Amino acid sequence: MAERYDVIIVGSGAGGGALAWKLAPSGKKILILERGNFLPRETQNWDVEEVFDTGRYISEDTWYDADGKPFQPQVHYFVGGATKLYGAALYRLRPQDFGELQHVDGLSPAWPIGYDDLEPWYSEAEWLYQVHGVHGEDPTEGHWSKQYPWPAVSHEPRIQEIFETLQKAGYHPFHSPCGVLLDEGHREKSHCIRCTWCDGYPCMVHAKADAETMTVRPVLERENVTLLVDAEVLRLETDAGGRSVTGVVVSRKGSEETYEADVVALAAGASNTAKILLRSASDRHPGGLANGSDQVGRNYMFHNSRAVIALAKEPNDTSYQKTLGLNDFYLGAEDFPWPVGNIQMVGKSQPAMYRGERPKMTFLAPNVSLEEFSKHAVDFWLTTEDLPLPDNRVTVDGNGDIHLTYRSTNDKEADRLYEELKHILNHIGMASHHVLSKNYYLKQDIGIAGVGHQAGTCRFGDDPATSVLDSDCKAHELDNLYVTDTSFFPSIGAVNPALTAIANALRVGDHLNGRLA
Ligand SMILES: Cc1cc2nc3c(=O)[nH]c(=O)nc-3n(C[C@H](O)[C@H](O)[C@H](O)COP(=O)(O)OP(=O)(O)OC[C@H]3O[C@@H](n4cnc5c(N)ncnc54)[C@H](O)[C@@H]3O)c2cc1C
Repeated sequence: MAERYDVIIVGSGAGGGALAWKLAPSGKKILILERGNFLPRETQNWDVEEVFDTGRYISEDTWYDADGKPFQPQVHYFVGGATKLYGAALYRLRPQDFGELQHVDGLSPAWPIGYDDLEPWYSEAEWLYQVHGVHGEDPTEGHWSKQYPWPAVSHEPRIQEIFETLQKAGYHPFHSPCGVLLDEGHREKSHCIRCTWCDGYPCMVHAKADAETMTVRPVLERENVTLLVDAEVLRLETDAGGRSVTGVVVSRKGSEETYEADVVALAAGASNTAKILLRSASDRHPGGLANGSDQVGRNYMFHNSRAVIALAKEPNDTSYQKTLGLNDFYLGAEDFPWPVGNIQMVGKSQPAMYRGERPKMTFLAPNVSLEEFSKHAVDFWLTTEDLPLPDNRVTVDGNGDIHLTYRSTNDKEADRLYEELKHILNHIGMASHHVLSKNYYLKQDIGIAGVGHQAGTCRFGDDPATSVLDSDCKAHELDNLYVTDTSFFPSIGAVNPALTAIANALRVGDHLNGRLA
């Protein structure tokens, strides 16, 4: 006999955790099914070799690209999902991102809801995740109903210098919104020690606002919430009419188990949610569950992103570097009519990360060590919106393995963003170098395995012919199936996706609380 719950949530990351947090106070019986386990707190959490070279926290999955070439995707199967490794830069989309936006390679489609519809939950998400920032500093942001719960994380001296130089040059830098458990007024009481190990590393001291610490652990204190770890959902079963999910089939401890609930919410991440739906094909849903529109798995996006390391004359001994953002080119640039993107700073790069660049560096500066490079490096992350192309998609083969077909879009915009960054750096005193004879920027495009910002495989919309979910994120074709991870994005904008996934899950949670009451 299958165990029965009011709600089953599949996945405990940004979207699943926020939904559980919102539903838990209702007292309803909730089951969270998580494929991974708790990420161990161990010294390797902050070991650059273990994290970046060995890939200690990357899943062992093999996915395949359009040519059938295998690759290891940078996915993280833990309680907390990708947020265990994320950088906790918690941005809102711009209001314009919710409407149609013309890009160089096509149209970014409108959402079925507007920025103002989501705004209350953006505020709630910022308070839930203890975000530090200053609303009002970034001229491109939309209206906010509540200021951030914490003041912005202060810049360290080198970043403050860059911030002020940018302002003097007429740019509009702002303090990046950061989800960290930091109290700068009372450092002795603060969880966060402002270390370098935030972006791309798990937080050993649990001072990063991730889905495990902010949502899953708190809800597990309630008797009505159960979490099963190492529980991989394989497929969903429906009633004979195909309108209602009746069983969630899980692989656990080497065998298959089935769980039942009145409502099922998928939050397994954009690729895995599509995989579960496609693997749940039946007579009633021959192309995959909820896939009468043939949209499940399509419109995959993950940003057209670049990591850029600028090597400056001045040493950069910043520890927590993620405090500065710039959206001056978000919606366009001079003589360039298309949106360009967001510039932000990322975690400080370490010598071991440059190994692949060693030959080029030796050629440019034979006597300079990797440590010396690291000492002068200033690290940026550039994000340009990519478009939801129908042929950029997740499919699943007969073995249940994911195939990911992806062609980049808006490269011209991404190139322009890179040019704008170089222009800025060359004019803010980072042009003369003592480690190198000329300006040097390490630019790294993010390949298909860099699925950290994956989104869009089950987009929401008003028309069942062109979307998988309705505006409440309920599957058009089913009465009790919801999706609350980044799959629902019809477009991805050019800022990090997690806060939008969290805000939307809270919004769907309020809808479900009404429905279940
Ligand atoms: C290195 C890195 C840095 C990032 N930095 C930022 C940042 O600074 N700011 C930002 O906004 N975003 C950032 N992101 C992206 C952000 O983490 C994701 O957008 C966000 O976590 C997505 O939430 P989600 O709920 O869709 O998926 P996830 O958070 O990944 O959660 C999915 C969960 O489902 C589980 N799961 C998968 N398949 C199954 C299954 N079959 N059965 C049961 N459980 C399953 C997974 O184990 C996981 O726990 C970063 C990502 C990475 C990898």
